[in-house]
Amino acid sequence: MSQPEAKPDSAVSDLVRLKGVGPKLAEKLGKLGIHGVRDLLFHLPLRWEDRTRVVPMGSLRPGDRVVVEGRVQHVETVYRRRRSLLVSIADGSGSLLLRFFHFSRAQQERLKRGVQLRCFGEARRGRRGLEMVHPEYREVSADTPVEEALTPVYPTTEGLNQNRLRALIDQALALLDNDPALLRDLLPESMLPANLRMDLREALRVIHRPPPSISLQALTEGEHPARRRLAFEELLAQRLSLRLARARFRQDPARALHGDDRLVPTFLESLDFTLTPAQQRVQAEVFKDLSREEPMLRLVQGDVGSGKTVIAVLAALRAVEAGGQVAVMAPTEILAEQHLQNFREWLEPLGLRVGWLSGKQAAAERRWTLKAVAHGEIDVVVGTHALFQAQVRFRDLALAVVDEQHRFGVHQRLALREKGEQDGRQPHQLIMTATPIPRTLAMTAYADLDVSVIDELPPGRTPVKTVALPESRRAEVVARVADNCAEGRQVYWVCPLVEESELLQCQAAEDSALALREALPGIEVGLVHGRMKAVDKESVMQRFKAGEIRLLVATTVIEVGVNVPNASLMIIENAERLGLSQLHQLRGRVGRGSAASSCVLLYRPPLNEIARARLEIMRETNDGFQVAHRDLDLRGPGEVLGTRQTGAAELRIADLMRDRDLLPEVAEVADPLLRDHPEAAHALMARWVGEAGRYVGV
Ligand code: ADP
Ligand code: MG
Repeated sequence: MSQPEAKPDSAVSDLVRLKGVGPKLAEKLGKLGIHGVRDLLFHLPLRWEDRTRVVPMGSLRPGDRVVVEGRVQHVETVYRRRRSLLVSIADGSGSLLLRFFHFSRAQQERLKRGVQLRCFGEARRGRRGLEMVHPEYREVSADTPVEEALTPVYPTTEGLNQNRLRALIDQALALLDNDPALLRDLLPESMLPANLRMDLREALRVIHRPPPSISLQALTEGEHPARRRLAFEELLAQRLSLRLARARFRQDPARALHGDDRLVPTFLESLDFTLTPAQQRVQAEVFKDLSREEPMLRLVQGDVGSGKTVIAVLAALRAVEAGGQVAVMAPTEILAEQHLQNFREWLEPLGLRVGWLSGKQAAAERRWTLKAVAHGEIDVVVGTHALFQAQVRFRDLALAVVDEQHRFGVHQRLALREKGEQDGRQPHQLIMTATPIPRTLAMTAYADLDVSVIDELPPGRTPVKTVALPESRRAEVVARVADNCAEGRQVYWVCPLVEESELLQCQAAEDSALALREALPGIEVGLVHGRMKAVDKESVMQRFKAGEIRLLVATTVIEVGVNVPNASLMIIENAERLGLSQLHQLRGRVGRGSAASSCVLLYRPPLNEIARARLEIMRETNDGFQVAHRDLDLRGPGEVLGTRQTGAAELRIADLMRDRDLLPEVAEVADPLLRDHPEAAHALMARWVGEAGRYVGV
């Protein structure tokens, strides 16, 4: 505990303390973020394999990753599509086929009938029964010992195999044994939860080289104290880096936006509805933030249709009342266009000037807008990523609104912040997301943000009834579309990504539109997809909004933001291919009016387990929090939240779901640590967040 750890810079050279490390290998290690011996010690296994037991072939099941041992019975080379070598082995309890696509002559010569092989690999169902494709194998005799302990599998990079990496880590562990000062426990013991007080070196040793007494289950299911000890540190480091980013962000002052109520009350009166209590609460939270000389960084979570846009508009009005400008950003053209329409409709009657910036607009129009923004002739500019670009200069950016933020990264948030920085003052930021997540998870994933939740829908919404039907019942579905249109309602028909390329996807949508036009004569069918020109998309959307188009065939470009209350039926083709949150987003396009709405999920059987679970959840609930919660269980937080912004996918040993019970304690310790032991806090971040932390300003 006495000596401070050396700075990362001087650690670079200490890799040469390891045998066999030259510039070439050092470079490869660098690619893995390993610049010193200590980094190597914190390069943790992705998983462990149980090679301690030889499993009888007779008890093998598809999906098992295990060791088997048997005698070669038969060898053949087949030339079907590719040349492959098939080796069948048997152990008395059963047999197994080994399949190799790449093999050398020497290899082929050694694999003879009667040879005893020990193989490690994954058993899969093949045409001739169970097989292993490219197993690791070696020739053994009756007394060749099996592994004593679990085998770690490390994240690696091209040209650096597991064995080499394992050998390097062995050396690093040996160095640690001789030189305990190499690592120190950064956490004051009082800050570790009592049940996790385990020596750091010991914890690392267990994780890298689990002793024979530890089972795979104990390690992977996360209950083992060594794993939990390290997971706690990692989660803490993650939270610290976000808290620090937050503190840095708030260091520079913002302009306090005290409104003069010249616009806000008039706007509220002009609405043909009143805000829900949840919206009123969130509005108050936002206005309070805006009135302070510290930049707001607030995330508004709210289910699809909960009315987040009004909150954004209110915040914008407050900023304009104070003489500032507003940027409104959305991740897709269609969503940005939708915001443009909303903002224009709501703000222009109040005398505000609303502008548009997109990557796809004509150069002249773009130049004009850029100039107007720079001169302050535009109050609110709406757009896509184009707003982040360097040429965009504001006269006085007071507020940035970012919609659907799980698609934007932290760096973009930072780029934005620089836009307002000319006079050393930060713009306030309001971020909106329709992916609500449980509170404990938000504490870590969004530790740099304040969070508001709109937890109720406007009154009068009728829940969407969802059914899942196999493709074979398409004709019935088409008939239902016809009925719906005959009743004066409108319909979405969504063709999600099935093909790899956007081009093929758009073709699929075109084909569907064609088929539907034929099947539904007399019904006006429109088509929107990602490869259409913005003006064409716009005009189709306008005609759908106006009710001229009754049936809109679309790719998932309509996923977010589109608002046509008269649409009461949505068909989603190939629904088994979509994730839960996407399905929920799409479904949120219907159920916006007072008519009973439904959503038909068309799928192609057979369904795998996950797809079946997803469709089931969709049928069971309309509640976005529920959906998000179930989605987290199915996919894990990295996927759900987007990896870029949370760093969740880069977690080395912690798992936000499995270790979520640690999160409250992590949250409790982080701020005191940062305040009372700043040096330890920084060292902890360098240790765990390292390079990834740099972009959040650590
Ligand atoms: P989302 O949260 O998905 O972005 P929107 O802001 O698009 O939701 O709102 C969905 C619809 O609900 C819009 O037509 C909006 O005008 C309407 N709306 C918003 N707030 C209310 C309210 N308090 N009462 C009635 N309708 C509302
Ligand atoms: Mg929205």
